[in-house]
Amino acid sequence: MSAESGIDATHDPARMSWVDSANVAGCEFPIQNLPYGRYRAAGDTDWRLGVAIGDQILDLRRAGLVDHADMNRLMELDLAARANMRFLLAEGLTRASADEARWREALVPMGRARMGLPCRIGDYTDFYAGIYHATAVGRLFRPDNPLLPNYKWVPIGYHGRASTIEASGHGFPRPCGQYKGEEDVAPRFGPSQRLDFELELGVFVGRPNPRGQAIRLDQAEEHIFGFALFNDWSARDLQAWEYQPLGPFLAKNFVSTVSPWIVTLEALAPFRRPWQRPADDPQPLPYLEGAANRARGAFAIDLEVRLQTQAMRAAGNAPERISHSNFADAAYWTIAQLVAHHTVNGCALMSGDLIATGTLSGPAPDQAGSLLELSAGGKRAIRLSNGETRTFLHDGDSITLHGRCAREGFRPIGFGECTATVFAALAD
Ligand code: MN
Repeated sequence: MSAESGIDATHDPARMSWVDSANVAGCEFPIQNLPYGRYRAAGDTDWRLGVAIGDQILDLRRAGLVDHADMNRLMELDLAARANMRFLLAEGLTRASADEARWREALVPMGRARMGLPCRIGDYTDFYAGIYHATAVGRLFRPDNPLLPNYKWVPIGYHGRASTIEASGHGFPRPCGQYKGEEDVAPRFGPSQRLDFELELGVFVGRPNPRGQAIRLDQAEEHIFGFALFNDWSARDLQAWEYQPLGPFLAKNFVSTVSPWIVTLEALAPFRRPWQRPADDPQPLPYLEGAANRARGAFAIDLEVRLQTQAMRAAGNAPERISHSNFADAAYWTIAQLVAHHTVNGCALMSGDLIATGTLSGPAPDQAGSLLELSAGGKRAIRLSNGETRTFLHDGDSITLHGRCAREGFRPIGFGECTATVFAALAD
């Protein structure tokens, strides 16, 4: 077993489950992952708590691991209790476990379950931690001055809206709003002509902090329960017209999509990386600086965006990859820094709050996490393999995000899907 911090027997790549589908190569939910989610099976009126294992869901209450169905309460557990729960899950799901016979009764096939939001999301904050995204978007708006002078000093964010965050698998109508083209003398009202996605990760807050009591950088991970994929759908034409002086508003809050499984911090332990700041960049202020953050603050998570148009769907073509990046390469700040900064003024975070990273574009052109970047502000359409082109999204388009972690000597784990489909705008 490795002496590396946070890695224990639950990460042993040789560990196999009595749930056979979890042992198949390429499975996103092997026994080393164990992400949490909320599901309903046929006849259920309330959400149930489950853990993904292979193509099955282990119901936590039926397995005797919790006596409630409140994910937010489960997420408040301290680090030791969380680790203990992970240990019990890993042991009980391992081949030849004494729990097998009883826990088989607690399995529900994923194909017969509907996944919901993983918890009640009280508040939602979106950061802007992707420096390649911030630079590319800044260049479109301000060619001479792409990165604003505060960017390398202060993690930029805004308060979003939790009420319109949806679980993966939904559809939504194209939003309407005000926009003003360069040639227009006055703004128009109508369906957005520049609808976009944003490739992000969402961080779920576990333990709350009392108002007035900042979360220090070295304590931040005690308050972070885990990660999910997050698509911060954006109407670029609405955004361009409304964003000054207070930032995003109706361009963002019509809908956001989150994947149903929270991959825990514990599961991600093998995939952590040192975090560093280029020597000629400003170094973080003391409250954003720490040895543990330097040693293992970053997470190497491979991310991917796939697009399926209506024509592709009709022809039976699979979604096509249009972008890929990695969280560790894309982010200028770590999640611990985002949490420390968010609370440094005394702001209270609640269990279930969602903190999104911002668009995670990589340095290369095909690593851009939005169509705004991939199409150079709508000037250069991307070409799909069936001959279709896109600058922004058309009605009928589906966007699916994927996330995976892999490292030599460890079992790869995945995040599942974060998918949603754009419909035509509602008639007014
Ligand atoms: Mn965003």
